Amino acid sequence: MKSKLLDDLADMIRTPSVNPFEGEMPVPAPEEAMAQLYETKLAALGLEVHSQPVSQGRRNVWGVLRGSGSGPTVMLAGHMDTVGVEGYESPFDPVIRDGKIYGRGSCDMKAGLAAYLEVVRRLQDTGTTLKGDLILAAVVDEEHAMRGSNHFGLQGPKIDHAIIAEPSELAICPVHKGQMCFSLRTKGVSVHSSLPHKGINAVNHMCRVVVALEDYAAELATRTPHPMAGLPTLNIGTIRGGNSVSSVADWCMIDIDRRTIPGEDHGAVMDEIRAVVAAVAAAIPQMDYEFIIADLDVPALGTPNSAPTVQALQAATTAVLGRSAEIRSFSGSTDAPNFRCEAVICGPGALAQCHSLNEWVDVTQVEQAVDIYLHAVQALQNEVQTP
Ligand SMILES: [Zn+2]
Repeated sequence: MKSKLLDDLADMIRTPSVNPFEGEMPVPAPEEAMAQLYETKLAALGLEVHSQPVSQGRRNVWGVLRGSGSGPTVMLAGHMDTVGVEGYESPFDPVIRDGKIYGRGSCDMKAGLAAYLEVVRRLQDTGTTLKGDLILAAVVDEEHAMRGSNHFGLQGPKIDHAIIAEPSELAICPVHKGQMCFSLRTKGVSVHSSLPHKGINAVNHMCRVVVALEDYAAELATRTPHPMAGLPTLNIGTIRGGNSVSSVADWCMIDIDRRTIPGEDHGAVMDEIRAVVAAVAAAIPQMDYEFIIADLDVPALGTPNSAPTVQALQAATTAVLGRSAEIRSFSGSTDAPNFRCEAVICGPGALAQCHSLNEWVDVTQVEQAVDIYLHAVQALQNEVQTP
């Protein structure tokens, strides 16, 4: 089983691009080797290569296959970073066995980045000129704060239709929940624990907030669900506070993850949560607190089923798989809404494998993805009539 598609994917697996999350930013940047590799491959295909710095030495790269100038701009986009490899045996040695290719990033989502290159190769092999431009984009930092896609959406070229190859087992996902992560800190006054009435206990105050947020989360479950994305949720992931058992705690902190559904405005959601905490504080004269807004704030993806990208992918999956792929919500949040254009997720591989210590992707699915993208890109460019 040898092909340029698999060679490209193997080259990318061999090129570590582990996102450091909150850890220290390595020099060169974690995705730099991948950015250089992708640029080389884009250039080898004769594409116009572009790059934009994002932050801390990290940069997005993309290639443009120019069309004849009369069609929409279609983008195939993905992230270059991967999750960590602690405990992973040989994460950067691609192995092909039993129709699967193994290695960190194989599924999430270097398979997609490799498939995009193959799409261009196939267009060129068949002498196909598209009407509009086709852009292949590789961005940084999806796994943590999604800085790459956010930057691309604000500063990159204007895109009409985007397909993102996050692992959906080739299901068409025009929708996913948004994600807001932030912290809340209560502040007290520490004194010896034998005189608690002389201090202000930040842990006690936070407990009231936690209960109020639990009620708020229960109320979210009674709202009208989005037909595909379901209900909004709130989860408190961590709590910590105080310095010793014999002191009144002068601080307490929680980390909150609020998942939003298409149609929810993140500013309005934050106002709801501020109101919940303000109501608790109104009943406790000594309560002092502050919100700490973190980096992660990704809106929900809410592309309508009637969007041309959904239609093109439906036709493409029907042609390639012999059946229209399932249309559903994607689990988890992705770069897609940050691109600020009509975007749909459809990619090879399953989420179950992608952050595991034994990551793999089915080779047949990667090949089918190529055919699906090829079909969809041409349909979006009106080069071919969809069946
Ligand atoms: Zn991913």
